[in-house]
Amino acid sequence: MSRAAAAGGASSGEVASSIEASPAAERRRLVSDLAGAPAPLLVVVDFDGTLAIGSRDPAAARITPSAQRALRQLAAQGAGLPPRVVVAVLTGRTVADVADRVRVGGIEYLGDHGLQGATLPRGARTATIARRVTTAERFDRHRDPAEVLAIGVAADLGDPPWLFVERKGPSVAFHVRQAEDVAAARALVVAAIARVERAHGLHDHGLAHYRGRSVVDLRPVDAGGKHEAVERLIATHAPGAVVALGDELSDVDAFEAVRAARQADRRLVGRTIAVHGEGRPAPDELLALADARLRSARDVGPWLAGLGRALASTTADRAGRSGGGPD
Ligand SMILES: [Mg+2]
Repeated sequence: MSRAAAAGGASSGEVASSIEASPAAERRRLVSDLAGAPAPLLVVVDFDGTLAIGSRDPAAARITPSAQRALRQLAAQGAGLPPRVVVAVLTGRTVADVADRVRVGGIEYLGDHGLQGATLPRGARTATIARRVTTAERFDRHRDPAEVLAIGVAADLGDPPWLFVERKGPSVAFHVRQAEDVAAARALVVAAIARVERAHGLHDHGLAHYRGRSVVDLRPVDAGGKHEAVERLIATHAPGAVVALGDELSDVDAFEAVRAARQADRRLVGRTIAVHGEGRPAPDELLALADARLRSARDVGPWLAGLGRALASTTADRAGRSGGGPD
């Protein structure tokens, strides 16, 4: 049973029936809860389907202009010491790939579901992030089998146009979103993996499938995922508040980590926001763990911008209160 299923929540039928965003008043309250908590605020945001409109072609995904503006604003607000806000883009893509699509400095990029990471300083060129990326060396042993599988599976299937192979060093992802029948395509990939494993004697490669509806994502089995990545971010930055935004199965892990952290520390304001729309409904497991919903990736930028305004306003209030007013 998945962690999400074990955690319970609303029944899937109830969850899936509504595609409405949370009421405006509810979303405003969520913003004021986050902005009103002690600094820093940690913002953890997924890329595909969250900062970028969902696309059948992973190579075509682009951040929405409003989300990019909002992230730049938040990065500017996080430039002080100590920072008022810390932003982390947490994705299954590689750091170099996602940073090139987001193009915002002053934020953290966590790629391959947290297996690799880098911070792009404000003002630094995006291309420089590749040499800043750190990946734990203990996963190096997975690089060769991941490469054998990347080449072998594509060749076994005859390089079909619906298959997008994403090489990520110690991991490899086979995306099948462009197939007419996604479930059938996933089954073909799984069967091809088994054939390549047999052909190359890859019986102990230590790679296992991570979460995903339209991808077979093979990662080091002990690498953890977004759950562990969010735990590390919270431990590193000791935020007064944390919000995670996502739209897919891998974000279930991030949402669980936020909910576990707020349960463990009642002072922590932890919130989860699912991006769930008609075009691309979020999975039921994610909706069951979401405190609020946005209807589309197009709504993420405006929501983040509103969060930035609320942060600026509470920061000004606090400065005013500590700036010589009556005790
Ligand atoms: Mg996503």
